[in-house]
Amino acid sequence: MEDVDLHEFHLPRRRRDDREVSFNTTSVQTEPIQKKDAQTEADDHVDVGCQTVQQPAEKPDNVRIDQKVVDMIIEALNENEKINFDRLLPFHLRENVHLEHVASYKIDEINFTEAESDVIAMRYGTSRRSLLLLGSRHHETFCSHQPRLLISTSSTTTTVPLAVCPFSVAFRSASQFAVGDSSGRLTLFSGQNVVQEEKIHNGCVTSIDFSTHGVLTSSDDGELKLSQFTATELVTIKTVRLTVGDLPRNIRKASSSSKNVAIVSVQRSASEAVVATETGGLWIARLPLLTLRSVALPAQPIHSVLFQSPYIAVCAQGQPVVILTAESFVEQLPISATISTRCGSHFVFSDSKRIVIWSCASAKICYDANLPCTAMTSFPPDTLVYLDDSHNLTTLLITYY
Ligand SMILES: [Zn+2]
Repeated sequence: MEDVDLHEFHLPRRRRDDREVSFNTTSVQTEPIQKKDAQTEADDHVDVGCQTVQQPAEKPDNVRIDQKVVDMIIEALNENEKINFDRLLPFHLRENVHLEHVASYKIDEINFTEAESDVIAMRYGTSRRSLLLLGSRHHETFCSHQPRLLISTSSTTTTVPLAVCPFSVAFRSASQFAVGDSSGRLTLFSGQNVVQEEKIHNGCVTSIDFSTHGVLTSSDDGELKLSQFTATELVTIKTVRLTVGDLPRNIRKASSSSKNVAIVSVQRSASEAVVATETGGLWIARLPLLTLRSVALPAQPIHSVLFQSPYIAVCAQGQPVVILTAESFVEQLPISATISTRCGSHFVFSDSKRIVIWSCASAKICYDANLPCTAMTSFPPDTLVYLDDSHNLTTLLITYY
């Protein structure tokens, strides 16, 4: 056998893998590790998980109420119509009040002269105008004082000289007001100008009240009078005169007497007015006929009354304030008030150092704080105005909290 050159040699390679080749890309990403504190206990593994699941509704047990029971409940409710839900009302009332400061300014013009010593009365009207009566409360035979009327706003104060000491003042409208004086005259002002002047009583005009019925005035001559201003004059509609004989038996000394008894204070609430005499006589007068109904009260030196039907507050010299209704005693307050005013449904009292507010809505004291005060007035329903001993006039709002 001879040698031959082998040019080519093919050795078929055995295919080791006949699977289809595919190209895949994969990636791995690691989230940051979230660490949190977990309570652990040795040898105790606790799994805590939260899952919202729907609770299968429990099948209610059928409770059968006998028709007799239903009838009894209905009958009991019908019988007990007198269930007094009003008694629950106090729990819903916001009881405590707070005095919110609105404005304060000093009235330099008050500086008393030797011939005057008191802020006798104060009123506050629309457009933030205050009226202050300056003079003396004490008169021997005639007035030798230098009385003045101050009309004051935060920017200006106007002084109006008066002939005799004033005693009472009331706004008739936003622009008009009336001043009653110790000689029995009622003067109607428009701004600082006198519009009309009438001798209305034989004694000091102790109170003035304007309402749709007319002007109700009282006097220490014992008269309670309802009048009407016409364009030229003051027409009397009705007059009632209170004498010692009208006083309840426990107050009057003589069995009957036609001597007049001084009316010191009157306050109206709707069509009724409470009338108080200096010895402790108390009446409710119905307007416009001025029919009187006596309210029982022990003898006492009353100086002012407040009235917000059905509640009456009686302030007497050196005695605690008493709250009552025409039928019954309500409460004695821990203050002997020298100054008082009704502000909306609140009775406000001061003994010149402290202010106590009694709410007619909740029939209890709702404010009691130290506040120096020499004169006080209000503007319904919630504005309280007081003058302190440095002659600063402060306006406050009575607000609930
Ligand atoms: Zn005088």
